[in-house]
Amino acid sequence: MGDWRLFLKELKPDSNIEAGIRDAARKNFKSYGVYPDSIYKKSMSYVFIAREKGKKALIVYGGQLLQEFQGEQCEVDGVAAKICEMNNKNCEALRRLFPFTVPVNHRGIEITVGLGDRLGLASPGHIRLIKDKPVFPVLAQQSIRELNLTERTYDDVLASASWAVFQEGYEKGFGADGDHLKTPDEVRMALNAGFTMITLDCSEHIDNRAASLTEAEVDREYNMLPDRDRAQLEEKYANRDIKLKDGTKLYFSKEVLKRIVLVYLKAIKYTISIYNDLIKNCGRTIDFEMSIDETLTSTSPESHYLVASELIEGGVEITSLAPRFCGEFQKGIDYMGELKQFEKEFKEHFSISEHFGYKLSIHSGSDKFSVFPIIGRETGGRYHLKTAGTNWLEAVRIIASENPGLYRRMHRFALERLSEAKKYYHISADPARIPDIDSLKDDELPGLMDLEDSRQVLHITYGLILTNRDREGKYTFKDEIYSTLDQYEDSYYCALEKHIGRHLKELGIASK
Ligand code: ZN
Repeated sequence: MGDWRLFLKELKPDSNIEAGIRDAARKNFKSYGVYPDSIYKKSMSYVFIAREKGKKALIVYGGQLLQEFQGEQCEVDGVAAKICEMNNKNCEALRRLFPFTVPVNHRGIEITVGLGDRLGLASPGHIRLIKDKPVFPVLAQQSIRELNLTERTYDDVLASASWAVFQEGYEKGFGADGDHLKTPDEVRMALNAGFTMITLDCSEHIDNRAASLTEAEVDREYNMLPDRDRAQLEEKYANRDIKLKDGTKLYFSKEVLKRIVLVYLKAIKYTISIYNDLIKNCGRTIDFEMSIDETLTSTSPESHYLVASELIEGGVEITSLAPRFCGEFQKGIDYMGELKQFEKEFKEHFSISEHFGYKLSIHSGSDKFSVFPIIGRETGGRYHLKTAGTNWLEAVRIIASENPGLYRRMHRFALERLSEAKKYYHISADPARIPDIDSLKDDELPGLMDLEDSRQVLHITYGLILTNRDREGKYTFKDEIYSTLDQYEDSYYCALEKHIGRHLKELGIASK
């Protein structure tokens, strides 16, 4: 499809990149195969992304940038050109030459949305959706669990985002979130790769057990804590009314205080040390998110307040904090729980976050349509929302409609391996409620992505699907998944615009 060499006649040697050239590429995408918004001119070189032998490549035509990228030299109409693979090495050069492809922090921006892209193919669709909306996209967002399950590195994840930003000519800035990092090594890895947001998950330092101890046990364990810690905490919180800036009051009885301290003190100390040792002086401004959402019960306002207050006192600059909300935020399906209760607790958490001046972060935010209006309204449009799996499910939907044979194989495989995937993700899906795939016609397959049970099964088995290999070591599905999505690239972008667009609409985000 398309030959970028034909496009070169549109370029005049002394022309800048006017809208005209991009428009010509847009109009003739089929014959040129040049991504219109990727056309840039710099140091006498034209640079753009184009289809070359069925794949995308970065083309450099003339000028001084030829030596900046590695690739295959050629000549068109007597001018030197280079066909460059869109790999991580060339991405480094891209970031050096085009600073808008480098991720940045999002301090001060009201609405920020994490748009995790496990395949590294979705970001252009996300950019097309948000480019005219007041939304800062965190395009690169992956947890260690996701990295392992997809066999990707942080360099890979960030490179996909940078290439997407260049392809779409998106110059307004994007972020990169090392999500759910637990250890110093993981934090270092994300920082070294250039990530701009660190989401620290201290669930291993949260003592959930303490929440269900008897009073006598609480007393005993609490009294074993260092005297100094206890004295300081009691002075600050015990038997005190704490008034938030909006007038809301919190009260810490000594009983309540003891229990909160037992659950969170280790996590607080751990976070302060990670922040001060690794993040504070890393040479860049990092958006730091504290996540305490992986607990057994929902976070009480008092716990939230104390954790935040202690972190800030310990020198941590919090950009966002993720409490655990009531009800269930399961993967890829709507919120499960009482909306009234959610609204009440959400308001309390929001008051606390406003009091301290950071944003609430909502994890597992894919498809939570019934709570989006509450989030949008109650925060007045100031929050961080994370989505990830739903972007993979939209890819699965495209596969189901365009390559039904592949979908059928993935579906059967996902059902076979479900119990393995359930080790990583908690879902309530019941495979028995999924229609028998052999009884479905091809055109009924995409509809499986509208049913909760099949959504969840395909949602959590992504890692197994993407990394499974046959006896000769060849991927069972991965290569065909990528080639199908590449062939139907535009359909995938449209599906994402529509589906994530529905998220933004329910949140109350309108175009500017
Ligand atoms: Zn989370």
